This record gives sequence, C-alpha cells and structure tokens, in this order.
Amino acid sequence: MPPGRPGRAAYPVVSEVGHRLARVYEGVVQDLIDELGRLPNVGPKSAQRIAFHILQADPADVTRLAEVLLEVKDKARFCDRCGNVSQDSLCRICADPRRDQTSICVVEEAKDVVAVERTREFRGLYHVLGGAISPMDGVGPEDLRIAELMSRLSDGTVTEIIIATDPNIQGEATATYLSRFLKHMGIVITRPASGLPVGGDLEYADEVTLGRAFEGRRAVND
Ligand SMILES: [Zn+2]
Repeated sequence: MPPGRPGRAAYPVVSEVGHRLARVYEGVVQDLIDELGRLPNVGPKSAQRIAFHILQADPADVTRLAEVLLEVKDKARFCDRCGNVSQDSLCRICADPRRDQTSICVVEEAKDVVAVERTREFRGLYHVLGGAISPMDGVGPEDLRIAELMSRLSDGTVTEIIIATDPNIQGEATATYLSRFLKHMGIVITRPASGLPVGGDLEYADEVTLGRAFEGRRAVND
C-alpha cells in the first residue's frame, strides 16, 4: 500500500473482480453517467470522465460529495423577496439593513448576483428573474419573476432599477421588455454602460469591466 493513499490502495481490487462484476457495475455506472449527463454543459464524454473519476475517488470524498448534494437540497432555498440563493426566507443581502433600499439591480440568475457583488460597485438590492425571455425556448415574460418585482415597487421606496440582464439576444429582449413595462412608474431605469462582452453571460465579464459598466450606467429613454 503506498503511504498516505489508503483510499487508492483499495482500487486495484475493483479491477481484479471487475470482470466478474462487470455486468452489475455496468448498470450503476451507466445510471451515474446518465444522471451526470443531464447536468448543464455536461456532454456524454464529460459525464463519463466524471463518473470514472468518482469510481476511482477516495470513498470519503465521494461521501462528502453525496452529503453536500443532499444537504444543498435540504437547506438551500431561494429568497422569498429577491429570488437569490438563500439559507433562510430572506437572503443575506435582503436581510442587510445597510444595503441601499432605493435601488434594485435586476439580473437573470442567482449566479449573476455573485458577479455584480464581486465588482463592489453596487450596494443596493437585487431581483432575480429566473431566466430571460426566449421565444425559441418557450420562455415568455409570464415565466419570469416580473410580478414579484412589481410588488416590490408598490410602496415607492425604490427609485432606481438597474436592468443587468446578460449581454446577448435574450438578455437584450428581456431588458427592452422590462424597460417598456416599467417606464410609466416614475422610477429611473438604467442599464450598465456598453463595454460588456457581447453575446456572453454577465458572469463571464471580468469584475473590472462589469464594475465600470455599472459605474457608467445610463438611463433608458425608450
Ligand atoms: Zn433576497
């Protein structure tokens, strides 16, 4: 047994009996590959690579992975107010009284909240739409959390909405729809300045570029 690698030492035993167990393992391994392949951006080859990585991994590491998968479904949820990932009914941003309650940054996904937070340019609140308008994918405005956004605007506290959807076709369509929808509400509607990489996701923009785009945000006039 190589020192310091007790988990790996057990692995050759698998190949020793692997032939005999091949048919039994095939089913389970295929199940794992199928499940992994259902994850976003994981193709069949990646699914196979991850499955075999798991097969060869230290059992303690796999147990930790399995536990955290169950735990995230058990404990993590979405903020009742903004739709961000949260452990409580309100996320830490909505629950923080130091955040500027007069501005809301509208983003497509919770991961975009992280991208904007990294820039440290924005101290207001967020609203996660849960996607973008995409007729080809059958996603219309009614599928997004727009009604929830409207109810947050009803008491007049919010004076600025920053529409920070992704700089791609769906994101632009969503921004145009939202700005038209909101324009009669007496709220300043802004969009981050141009300069973000077109066609990509907000999360892929580096924090300096995204920070500058926020700093130079402009009112939408249409
Ligand atoms: Zn929240």
